[in-house]
Amino acid sequence: MAQLSDDCFAFGGPMMSVDEAVGIIAARVEAVRDFETVALGEADGRILARDIAAPLPLPPFTNSAVDGYAVRAGDLPHDKTSALPVAGRVQAGSRAVAAKPGHAARIFTGAPMPEGTDTVFMQEDVRIDEAGRVVLPHGLKAGANVRPAGEDIRQGQVALKAGQRLRPQDVALAAAFGLTRVDVVRRIRVAVFSTGDELASPGAAREPAQLFDSNRFMLTAMLKRLNCEVSDLGILRDERTSLANALKQVAAGNDLILTTGGVSTGEEDHVKAGVESAGTLVLWRMAIKPGRPVAMGIIGGTPFIGLPGNPVASFVTFVHVVRPTVLALSGASAAPPVALPVRAAFAYRKKAGRREYVRVTLRRADDGVLEAVKFPREGAGLLSSLVDTDGLVELAEIVTRVEPGDSVGFFAYASLI
Ligand code: AMP
Ligand code: MG
Repeated sequence: MAQLSDDCFAFGGPMMSVDEAVGIIAARVEAVRDFETVALGEADGRILARDIAAPLPLPPFTNSAVDGYAVRAGDLPHDKTSALPVAGRVQAGSRAVAAKPGHAARIFTGAPMPEGTDTVFMQEDVRIDEAGRVVLPHGLKAGANVRPAGEDIRQGQVALKAGQRLRPQDVALAAAFGLTRVDVVRRIRVAVFSTGDELASPGAAREPAQLFDSNRFMLTAMLKRLNCEVSDLGILRDERTSLANALKQVAAGNDLILTTGGVSTGEEDHVKAGVESAGTLVLWRMAIKPGRPVAMGIIGGTPFIGLPGNPVASFVTFVHVVRPTVLALSGASAAPPVALPVRAAFAYRKKAGRREYVRVTLRRADDGVLEAVKFPREGAGLLSSLVDTDGLVELAEIVTRVEPGDSVGFFAYASLI
């Protein structure tokens, strides 16, 4: 990050594409190397610090997949119905027994296969005759309805990889291995400020020309979804010196400093000046709408990102700049979110060379296809446009028009944050 400026255009210079920005972040951000051990119950969402190799096979022993009768397939004729006397009964949790040759054993789901058997007939497929024998239809493949030891995961296989974000199913796998704790990357510490004289904190008195600060709460919530440890540092006034001091003060204790507002080049956009005096600043004019100006820099060795103040621009640039930075800081190997194809129910015109995001709701059309319906208004200040929609349609740099019926790529909000 320290050499960011070498690669960047000044504000007002050529626009930087989203991919370029993400590439620079990935190349320059150094991952935090501090690990901690957490109980499995606290592991969801954390970034795994080390590979986990299976300490035992899964399943650990060969067992029945159904309730039924275990047999040795070789005992049965393969072209006609047969009947075997029943001997033995194994339930889930009971110890494996040896099968009596030429007999079927009553068995239940999850019970270990009796030694000498290899196939299970489902109880629905058999009947018991007058002599108490189990009548078995022919044609069942040897090995049917059996779950061999290790069929899910082999012992020693790397089953969870360093850098992956643990999901509930990953936590389940660690539990299936008998683990109680896992090593994860420590939480990324992020300091968050809003900037602007027009902002009042919810709960404080609001002057007639003020609005309540909403971005700080949105950004904090998004960071918490990334499992960051967030310091909410309130609102900074539009004044260079106090801004610079506040930023300098938090640099030491944090992995990332995040602000919103004040990054355009208007006379009252003081973040630029504040960061320049507290550290090094680079302003990116990103070729993204909503979005555009994003400031990046280094303050006391700590990466700094200044997002625009308009709530929708703030949201979209968070997704494209802050999220990859936090993931890079935590050494996460997360693949970028994947767009799902949906049918546009709107027409749209745009300039080439800029990536645009259209706020949409999804509906199912009469023919069953999912359609994206565009939010009727476009302002980057409209919080309702984020609240009342399901996600974003991404229109690539080369696209200049969308017609109703076109296939477009949709990102659900849940996939972005
Ligand atoms: P700025 O980027 O500072 O020029 O702000 C652009 C617009 O976003 C202005 O209308 C601001 O009032 C608004 N804005 C800036 N910061 C916030 C915030 N934290 N919450 C809500 N709106 C904001
Ligand atoms: Mg401002």
